[in-house]
Amino acid sequence: MKIAFLGLGIMGRPMAANLVKAGHEVSVWNRSARQHLDGARTAVSPAEATTDADVIWTCVADTAAVERVMFGDDGAERSLREGMIVVDSSTISPSATLRFAERVNGSGVHWVDAPVTGSKIGAESGQLIFIVGGANEPVEYLQPLFKAMGKLVIHMGDTGKGQSAKLCMNLMIALIYEGFAEAYTLGQKLGVDPHKLIELIQASMVRSGVVDYKAPFVLRHDYSPNFPLRLMHKDIHLMLDMAKENRVKLPALETVDEIYELSTEEGWENLDFAATLALLEKWAGLGGQPK
Ligand code: NAP
Repeated sequence: MKIAFLGLGIMGRPMAANLVKAGHEVSVWNRSARQHLDGARTAVSPAEATTDADVIWTCVADTAAVERVMFGDDGAERSLREGMIVVDSSTISPSATLRFAERVNGSGVHWVDAPVTGSKIGAESGQLIFIVGGANEPVEYLQPLFKAMGKLVIHMGDTGKGQSAKLCMNLMIALIYEGFAEAYTLGQKLGVDPHKLIELIQASMVRSGVVDYKAPFVLRHDYSPNFPLRLMHKDIHLMLDMAKENRVKLPALETVDEIYELSTEEGWENLDFAATLALLEKWAGLGGQPK
């Protein structure tokens, strides 16, 4: 298949590389540096990348970035042809997704929201989980591409349901990590061996994939970005917006949002979201300056 891949960040680059590896004809575009990808054609604009594509795949930071690559001056919209499919693997607003889908539907183009989970390691190893919203026909057509980049596709329902489900899931990631960080900080103050505490957590009923992924980094004090704090913070704001629109109260998430605000004030927004632990450590008098 001919695929235009827009956005070569932490997630987009390995995803596009896996499409190349699977034998697809890929053209890529990235806003700034890091435009080259072995085996792919580099385009000068989203419109140029998408000229003769069957599928346009976006994986950019946020709602504004998707709007820019799709509908900006040199956006992919200029190259839309009937029958094309736009797949968005960014995590963005469900309501904006519906607006974007309606806009491209006018040109006979399907919009499939397919945010992902699995982070950097999942993207690099082709083990992502796609959380999908959209019509059955395009979702079926995309199966070989999902397979090239992931291990599982969960079709949540109509357009927008992928983004909605992704936000619900990330809400739990933020809260589970915060629970782990608080336990880890208290444990340190009480003189509990961190390795043994993690062994206990992972052997017990609180075992979690979040701890599986993050604990090795935390033990090394390695907060290099796998999932940057600024992006989880963006997701928390999307969750709180959706909650407000739908009259849902999320008190624990509101508190976690404050932790992210304060971590951002510390200048840690480009570190991994695991660096929020360092704030608790700082308040506990345990150092807490992430590298
Ligand atoms: P990233 O490394 O920060 O990459 C962001 C990408 O978006 C880069 O290609 C960036 O271009 C581009 N971009 C940002 N603003 C733009 C704009 N206004 N116009 C055009 N391009 C713009 O982020 P990532 O980790 O790959 O995440 C991408 C998406 O996947 C996000 O929505 C994120 O929430 C989601 N996600 C991430 C993870 C994870 O663990 N990292 C997991 C699941 C989902 P430049 O290179 O020019 O900055």
